[in-house]
Amino acid sequence: MKKVVKFGGSSLANAEQFKKVGEIIRSEESRRYVVPSAPGKRFNGDTKVTDMLYACYEAAEAGEEFSGKLQAIKERFEEIIKGLSLDLSLEREFEQIAADFSAHAGKEYAASRGEFLNGKVMAAYLGYEFVDAAEVIRFDKNGVLEAEKTNRLLEKRLAKCEKAVIPGFYGAKVDGTIKTFSRGGSDITGALVARAVGADVYENWTDVSGFLMADPRIVKDPKPISTVSYKELRELSYMGASVLHEDAIYPARIANIPINIRNTNEPENPGTMITSEPAKLEEGQIIAGIAGSKDFTVITMYKALLSSERGFIRKMSGVLEDFDIPIEHIPSGVDTLSVVISNKQLGGKLEDILDEFERQLKPDHMEVSDDIALIATVGAGMSLRTGVSAKLFTALAEKKVNIRMIDQGSSEMNIIVGVENKDFEKAIRAIYGAF
Ligand code: ADP
Ligand code: ASP
Ligand code: MG
Repeated sequence: MKKVVKFGGSSLANAEQFKKVGEIIRSEESRRYVVPSAPGKRFNGDTKVTDMLYACYEAAEAGEEFSGKLQAIKERFEEIIKGLSLDLSLEREFEQIAADFSAHAGKEYAASRGEFLNGKVMAAYLGYEFVDAAEVIRFDKNGVLEAEKTNRLLEKRLAKCEKAVIPGFYGAKVDGTIKTFSRGGSDITGALVARAVGADVYENWTDVSGFLMADPRIVKDPKPISTVSYKELRELSYMGASVLHEDAIYPARIANIPINIRNTNEPENPGTMITSEPAKLEEGQIIAGIAGSKDFTVITMYKALLSSERGFIRKMSGVLEDFDIPIEHIPSGVDTLSVVISNKQLGGKLEDILDEFERQLKPDHMEVSDDIALIATVGAGMSLRTGVSAKLFTALAEKKVNIRMIDQGSSEMNIIVGVENKDFEKAIRAIYGAF
């Protein structure tokens, strides 16, 4: 039995949390490969080490004095080392980091040091070997993960270790430049390691007892999901359920490794098991879960006879490709076509894009809403049931939520509605209530 265990920031925020983690790891011989995040928040309102590093590096890059900010980060680690009574000094590492910050080593290098240092602490605490992710997680020159290369590097390196700690969140390009995943990316590292060592299970330890049917910050005490499929989970993660990074699913799925979401603060809870099997629903339950996020722009184009025009979608997507912007959805109707784009991706390019649409597509009329939230209601069994959409729309209407867009995913596993940002929480509660 071989398990890969990833621990999130809140599970490693201080020495007390580290001790819980130590107990979990030591309670099973099979927990051989450990992927830690950087220390997270110790209490509400605290700052994650990753965010402290971003801020510290920003000061360094602006040529400001940053030693105070770096000292505060060092103290976070010293507090943990002391609390665990470890014989470990990070003096040399911090000297190196200070020098690298002065030399403007890069924002991603800076952010990666949280996991790097925490990996050192974890390895010392467990007596496991430390394997620097920069040696085994490989990105190409454009910063795209080289999945197969990484798999080979990891497999080869870890074959030599009975037990190891591999810090999450980062890797390196072939020239050694450090590159991070997007936020929450330690989940991806864990999945890559699980695939490479052929783990029996990938345990992802966090601060909730598994995947819940909705975000617990929005819905009070949502029901837990005991089992769910990779596909359903990918839809939920992609749409905003932040428990597991959406890109952590693929490596586990292709190697058919179950992902088990567990709670460091409640280790006896079995949590959520993610496999290729669809969610096992309780009697009367139709959906697996609800997830969403705010801040999308919907551009709707109206044009007489659009439905019989050739090449309209191609030209529209060509414009967005030229601006290097991914498309989230393309809901369409007779003589209307909408395109949904995330505001984060849009940057300041909206006006230029609209000009280009005007020029190339010649719509009669365009409408733009830039404060749209998308909500996905997901469940593999949904397509077999009648009345699911009716139930959803009725629930929203009863709460007077104005639906601005509807898109039924072609996988028939989800229904996506667009509502105004201000109605986001209300809409999620209404849908949860209805199902
Ligand atoms: P970690 O630091 O362990 O990686 P994250 O903060 O990334 O943890 O993810 C766990 C958090 O995700 C939970 O504390 C919870 O607030 C949030 N969350 C959002 N949607 C859900 C959901 N559907 N089920 C459970 N937790 C959710
Ligand atoms: N520490 C990184 C972050 O805060 C990565 C992670 O926690 O997974 O995003
Ligand atoms: Mg996370």
